[in-house]
Amino acid sequence: MTQDPSATTDARPDLANMTLEELQSFFRTVGQEPYRAGQVMRWIQQALSVSFGGMTNLSVKLRETLSSIARIGRLEALGKITSEDGVTKFLFGLIDGSKIESVHIPTDDHDTLCVSTQVGCAMGCRICRTAKMGFVRNLTAGEIVGQLLEVRRQVSDSAITNVVFMGMGEPLANFENTVRAINILTDPNGPKISWRRITVSTCGIAPRIVELGNRVRAKLAVSLNAVTDATRSGIMPVNLTYPLDSLMAALKEYPLPKRDRITIEYVLIRGLNDSDADAKRLVKLLNPIRAKVNLIPFNDEMSTEFKTPTPQRTVAFQDILMSKSLMAIIRKSRGRDILAACGQLASDQRRDC
Ligand code: SF4
Repeated sequence: MTQDPSATTDARPDLANMTLEELQSFFRTVGQEPYRAGQVMRWIQQALSVSFGGMTNLSVKLRETLSSIARIGRLEALGKITSEDGVTKFLFGLIDGSKIESVHIPTDDHDTLCVSTQVGCAMGCRICRTAKMGFVRNLTAGEIVGQLLEVRRQVSDSAITNVVFMGMGEPLANFENTVRAINILTDPNGPKISWRRITVSTCGIAPRIVELGNRVRAKLAVSLNAVTDATRSGIMPVNLTYPLDSLMAALKEYPLPKRDRITIEYVLIRGLNDSDADAKRLVKLLNPIRAKVNLIPFNDEMSTEFKTPTPQRTVAFQDILMSKSLMAIIRKSRGRDILAACGQLASDQRRDC
């Protein structure tokens, strides 16, 4: 298990921050049968219990023991704001006083939750406001999954079936906790989110992309945003460490399930990456991998540096991709009036879900 930032304030282990295996190990350590792990995990992750007192299939003695030696971590609900189109941005407080945001995006047939994986971010993408916060700390797996649990507590009629790791932070820079969070989310004793409905979005930490695919099953999204190293390095410093060659090699190596495609996110910026030549280069670049492209016109409402492309340019760019049989969808940011499009969580401007 990884470092728990709450350890300084409460030394008791947080059972909401444990995978099933870790819970089994915990119960063995305290002299209990490991099957207790599944029971307690279901209470925490499915019944949304926040104390041991109501866990009626445990003896009273065991409940008392657990209350004294362990705790159930949860996020503090600090507020929420709902946009004109039904998207809700939640603000949560963490045990050390840090704040994170999550975005609930309802659609006709399912709801999606966009979760944060770090407080702030160290990756420095110039089209993203989270970058301006700098990096504060990684979230624990419990804090990542806890965003789903808290939203389920607050939106009782929600049918959240999809979770996207696309909020504040770079999930692959918080690799172990991202993997552990996916293990909790997909556990039959956990929130029971299918791996097919979990998407991890990265700015392109190439070696971790392959490692992620080898450790867990999840859908993959990559913020590409440019088709030359010069342009990409100019807006995404990660490209200086992992240039396009290494990123594309990692995407080719990613163990993609049959019929799946990698989602390529491409924020279109006027005059920077939205030319016909850029579109043609994008087709060529993606030719060796099974991919679909989300085209996201840059939202320049909060930026003086970059501009929104014209609608005609956006459609022309899409047409070039489609004419070469590359699936491309123009994504409109939902929740723009509350800056809730994923990646705009802390007034961030990155991409849509
Ligand atoms: S786009 Fe993502 S990886 Fe880049 S700075 Fe923003 S949160 Fe970090």
